[in-house]
Amino acid sequence: MVGALLEAGLRNGVDVRVKAPATRLVTDESGVHGVVVRADGDEHTVRAAGGVLLASGGFESSSELTTTHLGAPFGVQVSPAGHDGIAVQLAEEVGADLTGMEDAWWMPGVQLPGEELEGRPLSRVFLGERALPHSIMVNSRGERFANEALPYDQFGRIMRQVDPETGTMPNATAWLIFDHDYWTRFGIFGVPPGGDVPDYLHRADTLAELAAEIGVDEVGLLRTVDRFNPEAARARDPQFDRGGTLFDRYFGAFHPRLGENSPDARFPAATARARIGIATAIGPVVSKLAGRVAKRDDPERLRSLVVGPLAKIIRPMLESPPSSVLGPVDSSPFYAVKVEASALGTVGGPKTDALGRALDTEGRVIPGLYAAGNAGGAPTKGFYGGAGGTISLGLVFGFLAGREAARRRDAVVA
Ligand SMILES: Cc1cc2nc3c(=O)[nH]c(=O)nc-3n(C[C@H](O)[C@H](O)[C@H](O)COP(=O)(O)OP(=O)(O)OC[C@H]3O[C@@H](n4cnc5c(N)ncnc54)[C@H](O)[C@@H]3O)c2cc1C
Repeated sequence: MVGALLEAGLRNGVDVRVKAPATRLVTDESGVHGVVVRADGDEHTVRAAGGVLLASGGFESSSELTTTHLGAPFGVQVSPAGHDGIAVQLAEEVGADLTGMEDAWWMPGVQLPGEELEGRPLSRVFLGERALPHSIMVNSRGERFANEALPYDQFGRIMRQVDPETGTMPNATAWLIFDHDYWTRFGIFGVPPGGDVPDYLHRADTLAELAAEIGVDEVGLLRTVDRFNPEAARARDPQFDRGGTLFDRYFGAFHPRLGENSPDARFPAATARARIGIATAIGPVVSKLAGRVAKRDDPERLRSLVVGPLAKIIRPMLESPPSSVLGPVDSSPFYAVKVEASALGTVGGPKTDALGRALDTEGRVIPGLYAAGNAGGAPTKGFYGGAGGTISLGLVFGFLAGREAARRRDAVVA
């Protein structure tokens, strides 16, 4: 998508500059007229008759802003560097009102050793692994604190909840605890089921030893597992109703056609390896074909090619039972991996009107200043309607703001 947008911009004569971060807005009493950027060690002023659209993303990498507005920095980062909240700073300097600052597009993350981007640790998003049977997630008290199969934004939000008595976030660092059944059926993070156990996984013969190794309260963990196991064995979770919704079961272990006779269930390791082999072999062919179809600029044909077959594959999943996400944690050895609360991006920024124009604290338009995407205060105020819930906002309000700025430029030039 970004490639297509860039190509469209270049085709239409947009002058794209890279490695030129904006540092200041150029203003006078009539509004915002440009930005000062730093490039090659110098400052350059870029004039903009229509105004400036802040689209520099959120402030999730800024310790200062996350501490002030979200209570604490994130333990790990799942988004790339460069999200330092410059939009918030620039907008505040011209008196913009800020909104949604206490919210984020929450996502739990797992930092694996050595995984980084451009020299900075980059954590994995932690999605389906939480929903598989024979696992639970606990905090340092050894307590479950949510339905592990919740959508990531809801689960991540609960991880960042503040305990009113202690003022701390007891779930911000948590542990996925799973047993040997889980390991031999699913593996984790690309390690095939039953494969070599990587060093970053904690492993112990008993849950008590595992608790001691990871610094989780042993009594709490044993009590939690004692409560969870008998119900999970009957595919129930009276405490948090894990498996109660279709979404919960989306990432579950379900073999619709052949049930327990499916290759996935009978030979999980071999099936996982075969799947990786097939994907590696046909991936380049599929992406070449998809590229060709996309170039034909025929979205309806693309849709008919993709949506029909995908719907056929996914439809049987609608029948998946709660047992696809529930099973007792009772086969030794036991494993643990650390999970930290994080965010895909932040929600807050300058408040805008329906055309993407930034507003001041009196609700008046700041002439020439616009904001969209994570740089602006999200029009949905942090409500996440599903995958695409942030990018769609950026696209729609970026388009509206750009159109408005173009109109303003035409009026100024005329
Ligand atoms: C792993 C992951 C998966 C995600 N999956 C989804 C998904 O499935 N659906 C969905 O909707 N969202 C998803 N998101 C969130 C989504 O990627 C972001 O919300 C979205 O990219 C925000 O777009 P944006 O244009 O506002 O900002 P960004 O994409 O962050 O772009 C901002 C740009 O501004 C640049 N910049 C920063 N400071 C300056 C400066 N001073 N001057 C000039 N440029 C600057 C940055 O380098 C960056 O290139 C995901 C995020 C992550 C990390």
